[in-house]
Amino acid sequence: MIGIEAGLLTIDLGAIAANYRLLQDKAGSAVCAAVVKADAYGLGMEKVAPALAQAGCRTFFVATLEEGVALRGVLKDAAIHVFNGVPSGGGGVFAEHKLTPVLNSLGDIEAWAAYCKQAGQALAAGVHADTGMSRLGLPAYELQTLAAEPQRLEGVKPAYVMSHLARANEANNHMNRRQLEKFAQALESLAASPASHCASLANSSGIFLGGDYHFQMVRPGSALYGVSPMTEGPNPMAQVVRLQGKILQIREIDSPLTVGYGATRKVGPGERIATVAIGYADGYPRSLSNSGCGFIGSYKAPVIGRVSMDLITLDVTKIPSDSVHPGTMVDLIGPHNPVDDVAKRAGTIGYEILTSLGARYQRAYVGAKV
Ligand SMILES: *Cc1c(COP(=O)(O)O)cnc(C)c1O
Repeated sequence: MIGIEAGLLTIDLGAIAANYRLLQDKAGSAVCAAVVKADAYGLGMEKVAPALAQAGCRTFFVATLEEGVALRGVLKDAAIHVFNGVPSGGGGVFAEHKLTPVLNSLGDIEAWAAYCKQAGQALAAGVHADTGMSRLGLPAYELQTLAAEPQRLEGVKPAYVMSHLARANEANNHMNRRQLEKFAQALESLAASPASHCASLANSSGIFLGGDYHFQMVRPGSALYGVSPMTEGPNPMAQVVRLQGKILQIREIDSPLTVGYGATRKVGPGERIATVAIGYADGYPRSLSNSGCGFIGSYKAPVIGRVSMDLITLDVTKIPSDSVHPGTMVDLIGPHNPVDDVAKRAGTIGYEILTSLGARYQRAYVGAKV
């Protein structure tokens, strides 16, 4: 056993469970599903999904069929839905693993109807109506066709209608209302289908827009993992992730020098540098060159010089020397620098920080109920 070489990533499953309960509570009588695509936003679906199931979650969403198959291996009884539609020839895989596709186009509907016919049974599927993302989902003209030709869903069991909000993190943006209205129209146009009685619009942020947005099911992802659902105001979610990097070397500067690639930073006598074994290959963004910061206890240690592939350098001049040694762990995401703050400094969003977390970290899952 080599021990920690790069860093220690601690994932608090208890915090994820608490976040689930908070979101379920906010969503009132709506079913609170959980989005665990991209390996539960980089945190490890195999550990995260059972913790969510234990917190009461029965419905899960992933992006791809392959993710769905992997999740079925972890959760035998949960309802598992796949956002990205039906890949050609994928019908049998859905059925074999009891996965439900989200149908994003008339083409998807046709493929699923054909598979259901071949299988000789009406298999459940969600129908995705686009209300403003212009990404996936039936556009208005396809919804019209579907409303006019309901036989296209013959032999399929349409279980719910969903859509997705583009600006839900901006509580006062009127695009939210507009999408809500378009969604209501989409439900109206599909009123003949039982699916229209189970509607789902809200992601994490949408849950905080109020009861009008909850319908029968909500689909949070990021907020479960501690990312703030609202751009403004305090984060109501519990922090889930702590990333600690290990100091490899301490350097006392005794003459004017420069630090790192590109020599972007000058240092002089009396300054002290700590080199930490995490770099952009571990998902620590290169954009944090000369702008990120670590914490040793409550002491701040700014990133100086460029972030390199496997290493960063921190200015620890102001930190008492008995607190900083080779082997000392530095918080790069932690109580003093939560994921949203790190993301903001890096010019990105918490989602991207989480899903980029590297493979070289030792991972510790804490807070799980046994
Ligand atoms: C990823 C995703 C979600 C979850 O979004 P969060 O902002 O992470 O809560 C919900 N619905 C769809 C369609 C998604 O793609």
